[in-house]
Amino acid sequence: MVKVIRNVTLIDGTGVAPVKGATVVIEDEKITAAGPSGQVEAPAGAGVEAVDGGGLTLLPGLIDAHIHITGTGDPNILKAIRKTVPYVTLESAVNARKTLEAGFTTIRDAGGEWLVDISLRDAIRDGLVPGPRMLVSGMGLSITGGHGDHFFPPEVEFKGRYVVDSPDEARKAAREQLRSGADLIKLMATGGVMSEKDLPTARGMTVAEMEAAIEEAHNAGKKTLAHAQGANGIRNAILAGIDSIEHGFYLTDEIIDLMLERGVFLVPTLVAVHQIIVNGEKAGIPEYGVRKAKEHAEAHRKSFQKALKAGVKIAMGTDAATPFNFHGHNALELQLMVEAGMTPSQALQAATRMGAELLGLSDKVGTVEPGKLADLVLVDGDPLADIKLLQDKERIKLVVKGGQTAVDRRGGKP
Ligand SMILES: [Zn+2]
Repeated sequence: MVKVIRNVTLIDGTGVAPVKGATVVIEDEKITAAGPSGQVEAPAGAGVEAVDGGGLTLLPGLIDAHIHITGTGDPNILKAIRKTVPYVTLESAVNARKTLEAGFTTIRDAGGEWLVDISLRDAIRDGLVPGPRMLVSGMGLSITGGHGDHFFPPEVEFKGRYVVDSPDEARKAAREQLRSGADLIKLMATGGVMSEKDLPTARGMTVAEMEAAIEEAHNAGKKTLAHAQGANGIRNAILAGIDSIEHGFYLTDEIIDLMLERGVFLVPTLVAVHQIIVNGEKAGIPEYGVRKAKEHAEAHRKSFQKALKAGVKIAMGTDAATPFNFHGHNALELQLMVEAGMTPSQALQAATRMGAELLGLSDKVGTVEPGKLADLVLVDGDPLADIKLLQDKERIKLVVKGGQTAVDRRGGKP
């Protein structure tokens, strides 16, 4: 299969200036040529599918490096835990489709239960259901009483968690996630906003506990990510060898130096805190969540700005499925990153090239270059002039994943 997309303004994800009148050639699942039309030798004739881009903007498929595909964004916890696993599985497939339809062709899931994330990844890969390509974490590891230890009264047995309280337990838990098929190991290095009984500034897993889990992950060639908000826990995670800090509310100068030194990524997830504050208690978000989000929002924003200024590697992630942080609305994070200080080009790179680097997929996705998988989004308008337009699905005209057309909203156009 050969596809030639002509007449587009190409933003290739590398950060170079857009190229007007560009052509991209796709053979089977890969890009074989991309650049100004005059410099690209495009095949023609029978068997070549010609796509007129109509002067629209062509971007690499977007990457969300922190989502929870098994959740929905509904803050009603009781409703969530009364759903059966088969129901959650079907719902997750719908979430994946919505994410793909919004132009996100690759996602990193930061924790899900009952093997749903792992199975959905495989089902998408096998072509059973549409969705982005996925890297998944399985169950996140938490200390007793920590961010991942959802509190229920002792007479209620709830199995949707993985609690570890020693390096040996952490090691075993990591091995079990890997055995189940996890691509990543997620660790709770601090408390959190939506966990009732802890503080975002409180340490979660200890350095020794995280070290054991990280060693198992790295031994299996897998990366690790830490839910980490307070400085103490962020520092612990970095010292233990973590690959990325998620949220990162309190990055100190010392932490930023460590991140630069070790190439640790930040995935800020600004939209998670934003939606909790904007929607508030009146929308059914628990009081503790709203209170903690408000308490730490300003520090979070400053932390992001400090990291950006220092040149810490930043990948875009939404934490989709936190309250009112709905699947398919992922691009709001790009707007918030720009409002907090990124240029639109930096925000786009965070959601393309940088995401790919964080996921260890730089050789496959993240930029529009020969040899990469043909993950492409055709957008009506210039996202460098108005980053918000990526939130309007009607302007996401075409989504191509691995050379296959996943979404086509071009109407009657050729
Ligand atoms: Zn998360």
